[in-house]
Amino acid sequence: MSGKNKRKRNPRKSEKGSRANRRKASAPGSQLIVLRNGDNGLVSKAYMSRTAWKKISKIVYGNTRKECGALLIGNLFRDRITGATMAFIDDAFTDGEYGGTSDYVFTAASQADCMNYVYRVYGESKHVIGTVHSHGVHDSFFSAVDHTMMTSRCSEEVHLVLSPSHKTYVITFKDMDNCFHEIDLDTTAIGNGFEFERNTNGH
Ligand SMILES: [Zn+2]
Repeated sequence: MSGKNKRKRNPRKSEKGSRANRRKASAPGSQLIVLRNGDNGLVSKAYMSRTAWKKISKIVYGNTRKECGALLIGNLFRDRITGATMAFIDDAFTDGEYGGTSDYVFTAASQADCMNYVYRVYGESKHVIGTVHSHGVHDSFFSAVDHTMMTSRCSEEVHLVLSPSHKTYVITFKDMDNCFHEIDLDTTAIGNGFEFERNTNGH
């Protein structure tokens, strides 16, 4: 979901650009307001399992030029003392579809299929806890389209964007009030199979 408002590689370029470009640069989503934990707080973490990564990487590497996505399945826990969130991404569900070079939509049909899958396989022990999508040939960042998608979903969720072309990712945790929080991605379980670096300019 890099959308029509593709972020300029060189931010200075867009500052000097046309009025339209300046409008794009200030579009919501190109700069998420992210709440950071206090000095005494633990940083929230999302733990990616091998099972989930196997499915996500298969669809992402299946076509690195086009966008695609998957819903993240697992559990969210909150540390009552620090307020930090632990997101266990145990599985993923993809419709196997590819969008264009700058678009992918989580359709109602694929979300219904996912709910069916989750209840059939896990009963009530696991839930949809977020989304992941590929930006294909574009770098990883949260676009205005992504911002709309994330804030239209009415639960606490982890959202991940991967760029197979740039080998980068961005991740955020959105709460029920549509506020975004810093969260780290722990890929220890995947080891060398995860070749993405966090894009620190990504939000
Ligand atoms: Zn996107």
